[in-house]
Amino acid sequence: MGSAGIPHRRAILTGGLAATTAALLSACSSKPNSTGTDATAAGAAKASSPSPAAANRPDSAWSAFARLMEGNRRWVAGKLQHPDQDPRRREFVAEKQEPYGVIVSCIDSRVPPELVFDTGLGDLFVLRTGGQVVSPVVTGSVEYGPLTSGSPLIVVLGHQRCGAIKAAYEALRDGKTLPGNLQSIADAMRPAYEATVKDKHADPVDAMVRIHAKQTSADLRSNKALAPLVRKGDLAVVSAYYSLDTGRVEVLTGAPSA
Ligand SMILES: [Zn+2]
Repeated sequence: MGSAGIPHRRAILTGGLAATTAALLSACSSKPNSTGTDATAAGAAKASSPSPAAANRPDSAWSAFARLMEGNRRWVAGKLQHPDQDPRRREFVAEKQEPYGVIVSCIDSRVPPELVFDTGLGDLFVLRTGGQVVSPVVTGSVEYGPLTSGSPLIVVLGHQRCGAIKAAYEALRDGKTLPGNLQSIADAMRPAYEATVKDKHADPVDAMVRIHAKQTSADLRSNKALAPLVRKGDLAVVSAYYSLDTGRVEVLTGAPSA
C-alpha cells in the first residue's frame, strides 16, 4: 500500500463526507411540520409570541453587518445580552431557520463566533476549520446560507496568534511536512504564504493571518455561485481579524455600505 494508497483513501473519505454533508444540509433545511398537534401548538406559540429578534431579522448585508458589530461591541465591553437563547426562541426556529450571517472562522477555542458577536439561536451558520481554510466541501456549506436561506452576509474571520497559521507558515518556510492531515491545511495556505513573503513584515505570521482572510473572502466573493448575489447587492463577503487581547473584530475588506 504505502503512500500510493493515501490519495485514494482520502478521495473516498472526502466523497463520503460530501454525501454526509448534503444529507445533513437537507435535514437542516426548512420543512413544514407534518405532525398535527405539535405543529398547531408551535404555530400558536409563534403567532402569539414571536421572538423579538426574529421580528427584525436583518435582511440586508448592511443591517446584518451592523447587527454583528453591535454584538461585538457588547462582547468587548463585557455587556453580553445573550439574545434569543431561550425556549421561546427554540420553538420559533424549530421549523424554519433564516440565519442572517455565515461565519467562517478558526477552530481556536478562544474564538467562538456566537459569543464574539453575541448572537442567538438560529442567527448564524458557523463553519470552523483550522486557520479557517476552505475546501470544496466547506465552500459548499458556506454557499448553503446565501443560496437557500437568503443569508446576506459572510464573514471570514481570522484571528491574532492563530496556531494553525503559525504552523503552516513555519512548515512552508522550512519545507517541512506537518503530521497527519495537518499538511493539507498548510497546503491550502500556500497562496497566503507566498503573498506574505513577498514583503517584509515585522510579524509575518500576523500578516499572513490578515492576507489569508482577505484572499479567502475574495475567493468566495468571486465564486461562481456567490458572485451573482454579490453583484446584485444581496450578499456581502467581509474579511475580518479578531484580537484575542481585546475581543475586538477589525474589518479588513468588504464592509457593506448602508
Ligand atoms: Zn486559529
